[in-house]
Amino acid sequence: MLKDSYGRIIKDLRISLTDRCNFRCFYCLPYGEPPLASKEKILTFEEITRVSKIFASLGIEKLRLTGGEPLLRKEVEVLVEKLSSLKTAEKSLKEIAMTTNGYLLKEKAKILKKAGLDRVTISLDTLKPEKFRRITGIDCLEKVLEAIEAAQEAELNPVKINVVVVRGYNDDEIVDLTAFARQRALTIRFIEYMPLDSAKKWDRNLVVPGKEVLQKINEVFPLELKENSRGTETSWKYRFKDSTEGEVGIIAPITDMFCGACSRIRLTADGQIRTCLFSTKEHDLRTLLRSGANDKEIADFIKKVTLQKEPRHYINERNFTPASRSMSLIGG
Ligand code: SAM
Ligand code: SF4
Ligand code: SF4
Repeated sequence: MLKDSYGRIIKDLRISLTDRCNFRCFYCLPYGEPPLASKEKILTFEEITRVSKIFASLGIEKLRLTGGEPLLRKEVEVLVEKLSSLKTAEKSLKEIAMTTNGYLLKEKAKILKKAGLDRVTISLDTLKPEKFRRITGIDCLEKVLEAIEAAQEAELNPVKINVVVVRGYNDDEIVDLTAFARQRALTIRFIEYMPLDSAKKWDRNLVVPGKEVLQKINEVFPLELKENSRGTETSWKYRFKDSTEGEVGIIAPITDMFCGACSRIRLTADGQIRTCLFSTKEHDLRTLLRSGANDKEIADFIKKVTLQKEPRHYINERNFTPASRSMSLIGG
């Protein structure tokens, strides 16, 4: 079992497959990509599989493939198949999920399902084509909507939608996005804007508190809390009182911190372990992996690093130090 020094059990490994992205979301990559890792530094599928197996042997239950944009990684389904096969050997491992911007998903959805991907989360911040272009830098709302449909057809369920809510950009669409999710029986999660953009332009005034999001939805589509605890999840989950299918999630890292129950650890595309989204220091697994270390040595390193997991973030404190890398390089 992987336990940190505060007694939190780590069950969720997020793996960034690439630091590259084909979008330029203003809250993530406003001025294009920061310097990327050289190709040799990026972990191979074999390395990712080996590390995942070791993590799974330590009790990891869920692998989430992310990035950058994970679908930019060529033949990603080959990796998904390798990771999925670990579910048989490592009993703790139960789920392989992916977070994607959806651009390349329509063509891949069925292939990924067949390879063993259990479910997918797709980012969608607006239903208006021009605003979509303004937010992401790419004019392709229709493509992402088709990807959502394809994901549901491929039964990558429950298909989840991530919305980063930013004041003055898309807070006027909270209800419309919820209506969209209701029509399609999707899980929709509204996320507070965090200081993880590559330009370090985050502005607290642009954060829309989760409570405000909830209130706006509740006025039109009454909601009820599904459970009285978030457990180790990041979101408060709500169902529609009128029993319409679908779910609303409120993720409020700024105004309603959930660090006390954090179960997450991250691996960057270039093989660095990050024990917190807001870590200012990373742990070099790649060098160890490539130095001929055996599985036990790697497992010991992971256990040692986990003990250094930060208790929480300090976004709301005056002495907040930004994370050492921005979101697209960390793996959200
Ligand atoms: N490219 C994929 C995507 O956008 O879904 C996966 C990686 S992206 C970094 C993972 C998630 O982080 C996305 O849902 C994105 O909206 C979210 N995200 C990115 N920057 C953020 C920020 N500054 N605050 C909150 N969420 C952010
Ligand atoms: Fe790319 Fe995802 Fe960041 Fe948007 S949020 S720029 S899609 S990594
Ligand atoms: Fe976990 Fe760090 Fe996120 Fe808090 S800020 S929930 S400790 S990853």
